[in-house]
Amino acid sequence: MRPDLVPTLAGMGLTGLRIPDEFGGQGASALLAGIAAEEIGRVDVNASNIIIVTALISDVLVRNGTPEQQARWLPAIADGTSIPCLAVTEPGHTDAATLELKAIEDGDGWLFHGEKTSITLGLYANAGLVLARTGGPGARGVSAFYVNLDDERVTRAGFDDFGGRSNGRASLYLDGGAGDPRRAGRRDRWRFRVGQQGFDFSRAIVGQGCLGTAQAALDETLQWACDRVTFGKPIGTFQGVAFPLAECATHMRGALLVCLETLWMKDNGLEHGAEAAMAKFWAPKLSAEVIHRCLLTFGHLGYARRARWGNASVTSSILISETALSRSPSSSSLGPSWVASSPPDRHPAPRLTAICTPAS
Ligand SMILES: Cc1cc2nc3c(=O)[nH]c(=O)nc-3n(C[C@H](O)[C@H](O)[C@H](O)COP(=O)(O)OP(=O)(O)OC[C@H]3O[C@@H](n4cnc5c(N)ncnc54)[C@H](O)[C@@H]3O)c2cc1C
Repeated sequence: MRPDLVPTLAGMGLTGLRIPDEFGGQGASALLAGIAAEEIGRVDVNASNIIIVTALISDVLVRNGTPEQQARWLPAIADGTSIPCLAVTEPGHTDAATLELKAIEDGDGWLFHGEKTSITLGLYANAGLVLARTGGPGARGVSAFYVNLDDERVTRAGFDDFGGRSNGRASLYLDGGAGDPRRAGRRDRWRFRVGQQGFDFSRAIVGQGCLGTAQAALDETLQWACDRVTFGKPIGTFQGVAFPLAECATHMRGALLVCLETLWMKDNGLEHGAEAAMAKFWAPKLSAEVIHRCLLTFGHLGYARRARWGNASVTSSILISETALSRSPSSSSLGPSWVASSPPDRHPAPRLTAICTPAS
């Protein structure tokens, strides 16, 4: 990651969107955070990850931290001096209710033993919202901590990824082994559900970041379709070129509305788990498909490395893979139980028109 990226985003207020004014943030709505990710995604989908992660983590800290904890943690996220990450996934399995990384109470703090893997920004993060086992089996035995990752006894190993390389996806090792426990946290613990609560709305922000990238690709492609002349006509006058692009624009409008609806519901205190799952399932998948269509429209030029949409396509595909891989809680919000629920439960939402109505 470019060293100046986080300071630059922080300077624009983009790392503090979900942080109240009093802690140096913008006090912005979730809807605004989604729009910010979309705008940044227009130029770099990877940079939008900073907005996604800071919004997610600070939202959890704002809703659950004590005033003292918030004063300790939030200003550093807002001013970009502390990069946070979300650390749930473990090597053995991804069912958060069965995770194994242990937190053991020890005097004035907690000792953490175990490994987290596939952590976005893991190579760079100064602190992490870490889900750890503090009790017996199942979700009840899991707690959430905000852990200092700058502790010298925390080690990291980065992944050599196909795309999204600047995100520094990494494994974190918080395990000192027997007789050499690692201290990496303070006496700051919340229940498992707390750690999960912020996830949903961030799914829509992920979707919007991807849509921003796809929209930029589509904008350039529409211009290209006007400029490129073959067989004596601009290629955009051929239905085989124009119709797929119009279809892309149509689907993207729909996916964007799902993202906006999700974030509006979050801002208005409405349950939005199913909508968030729809947003994260559809928007990244669609974005990759749109970008692929754009690549094809550029002909042989689209295949060259200098065509910047190539990398974006890989990145969107990876976001799709994460979507497809994630089963909890997204698929529990939009899985068999959702299908089996009664229509009012499946469609709990106020309808889209309400998005334009200010919250009362
Ligand atoms: C780009 C990227 C960024 C990520 N960032 C983070 C992060 O910041 N923090 C974090 O904690 N994690 C992160 N992850 C991890 C992500 O949450 C996991 O990859 C995901 O939960 C799936 O776990 P897994 O990779 O171990 O796949 P596995 O659980 O091993 O699944 C392998 C395959 O089997 C399928 N599968 C497994 N079980 C079932 C089932 N019961 N029914 C149907 N199909 C099933 C899966 O869909 C998948 O296709 C990231 C992943 C990616 C790709």
